[in-house]
Order: sequence, then C-alpha cells, then structure tokens
Amino acid sequence: MKHFETEAIRAQMERSQYKEHSTPLYLTSSFVFDDAEEMRASFAEEKERNLYSRFTNPNTSEFVDKICKLEGAEAGYAFATGMSAIFTTFAALLDSGDHIVSCRSVFGSTHTLFTKYLPKWNITTSYFTADEVDRIESLIKPETKVLYIETPTNPAIDILDMEKIGAICKKHDIVFLVDNCFATPYLQQPIKYGADLVIHSATKLLDGQGRVLGGVTVGRKDLMREVYLFARNSGPAMSPFNAWVLSKSLETLAVRVDRHCDNALKVAEFLEQQDKISMVKYPFLKSHPQYETAKKQMKKGGNIIAFELKDGLKAGRTFLNNIKLCSLSANLGDTRTIVTHPASTTHGRLAVEDRLAVGITDGFVRISVGLEHEEDVIADIEQALAAV
Ligand SMILES: *Cc1c(COP(=O)(O)O)cnc(C)c1O
Repeated sequence: MKHFETEAIRAQMERSQYKEHSTPLYLTSSFVFDDAEEMRASFAEEKERNLYSRFTNPNTSEFVDKICKLEGAEAGYAFATGMSAIFTTFAALLDSGDHIVSCRSVFGSTHTLFTKYLPKWNITTSYFTADEVDRIESLIKPETKVLYIETPTNPAIDILDMEKIGAICKKHDIVFLVDNCFATPYLQQPIKYGADLVIHSATKLLDGQGRVLGGVTVGRKDLMREVYLFARNSGPAMSPFNAWVLSKSLETLAVRVDRHCDNALKVAEFLEQQDKISMVKYPFLKSHPQYETAKKQMKKGGNIIAFELKDGLKAGRTFLNNIKLCSLSANLGDTRTIVTHPASTTHGRLAVEDRLAVGITDGFVRISVGLEHEEDVIADIEQALAAV
C-alpha cells in the first residue's frame, strides 16, 4: 500500500470517456445491458458490473474501496447512515438465540438496538466496562457470536485494548466488531489487532463538515458477503451523491484529523487546570485511566473530550447557556466545535442509574473540538465557565 494520505487522495474509479480529473457523480438508479446474455450473466454474478444502485454504484464503490484501503480490509459496503451499517451488520450475521458481548458505553441508538430491538429476535447482550476487560471470557457462552466495541467509546471516552480483546475473540472463534467512528482509520486500524469487521458512521469525522449522513462496514470477505447479500435485499444503501461527497472528504481526512487532535489536546490541557472542573477525560492526557493503551493503539488522541463540572446539572445548563462561539448541537466530528450536556439532553430520559452506569453524571459535558483556532475555542469555554 502507498501511504495513507496518498491512497485517500489517489484511489479513484476508472476515468470516463471525458477524461475528468475529479470524480464525476453517477446519479443513476440503474445501468443498461447490451443483450439478454449480458444481463443474465450479470444477475448470475458471473460478470462483475453495476446493475442497480441498491447493489452497487460507481460512487459508492469508490468510497468503499478507499475505506478498505485505509482500514486494510478485503471488502465493504456503504450504508445510508452509521446506524443502518450497525443494524444491517448485526442482522446479517446473527441468528435467533445468538448472544453478543459488548462494551457498556456505546452510542445511544446502538444501546437501544441491544436493549429494545434485538431481543425481539431472541438476541441478547452482556456488557463489560473498560476496567473489566479481564472479565470478558466469563461472559462468553456457547451462543456468543459477536464481540462489539467502540474505542474511544461514546460518550465515556474509555479506551479498550484491541490487542487483548482481539486475542480473546480469536481463541473463542467469535466475530470481533469495532465501531471505529471516534478514531477514524487515520488514528487506528482495528484490523491490525484482529478485528473481523470495522464499522463507521461516516456522518462524523469521515465527512468532517457536517453535510451528509453515511455509514460503512468493511472487513473479512466471507463476512462481508453475508452483509452485502442482506443489504442488497433489504435496501439500506448509501446514495451516490453522499458517496461522492464522502469520497472527496476522505482526501482531507489526514490533515483534518491531525489538526482536530492538536486542538483537542490543547483544549484538554486547559480544562485540566480549571477549578470548577472535577475531571477531564481525554485519551492523550496522562490522567486518562487507559492512557498507556491509548498511546499503544492510537496515533493521536482524537477530537472528543469529556469533562465534569463540580456543580452538577445546574452548572451544566448554565455552561451551555453561556457558550457563544461553539455550537450546541447533536453532531460531532465537524469543523465547528460542538458542546453537549448529555444529562439534560440526549440522555435526559434515561433513569439516573442507567445514565451513571455509562459515566454520564449530572455535570458531564462533552466537547467535539473543531478546526477553529484553538485560542478562540478556549476563550469561549473560559468565559462560559466564568458564568458557572
Ligand atoms: C453517530 C454515531 C453512530 C451512528 O451514526 P449515524 O450516521 O448518526 O447513524 C454510531 N456510532 C457512533 C460511535 C456514533 O458516534
């Protein structure tokens, strides 16, 4: 493989007859055949070509091929959203009665799939926290088919040791699935540590500019075949337009993520010195409980910081109300810095115990550090803290 940046820029579909430099957009739902025999052979998969954009499209294929190169994967499929990637991957791989082992801190909708929807098909989940990695083997049953993690996790910013977990999965012949959304392949490549499949919400840092929704699953060819066949028939495909946008976004992934991480480290160091804050969690701060693991498996610390205001719920709301430059929004991984207070918003309807189990205390604030000048972001946080 060429260097990461070069692949992200140069991996490109075949040029058309017009010899365009930048990739064209193929907004077409279907493709034509020369004759009955070509059509038969194509549907029989004797011939590899585009038939219908629910199956493949030149733009989605370019995006998937790039992600495969960047993650070191054999095959992949692009989805309309990150959640459709996660749901379809589970639906394709799991049978009724199967069991999942997952880290406890996972994206909210993924948690809802585990607790509300997968049980409809008699699929159950057991959880471990970041300091219970040594307990994982005791959770594995004969029916365990998948081990699922995020690292860094959303929203707790825990780091899980992929090398350790990958070895456990291999020993027990379990499919190891990693949601690599917070790190991107630029910071870590889970397949190197034994992941069988890697999932992304492309909506976040992969686009990085808050424009389009998207998702992608890449990894082992045999497993991706199952995922592809399920997706081809159930229809969660990414639109060619979004794939065209996202393929362009990947050209700048390395420079963007580098700067996101540099800015985030400076913001995290600033937060650590503030009296009104009791805890700051950022993977590349020495105070992070899994700092050594983060250093081992990540190139830089990512762009998400969690911190806790000493005065709880009221302080969290006051802090948000006084933010001027940064955005109050549900997205993350955008050029714009985004501040959220989960206890009064995204996780407001959870029972307090459930919220605390994933580390969301009353004063918990999450910042997705953007690409503005870091001094302006710090100044905004500083003046909002002054009001708390
Ligand atoms: C946002 C997110 C998702 C879901 O992605 P969508 O594109 O919003 O469907 C899944 N996992 C993580 C870690 C996320 O942050």
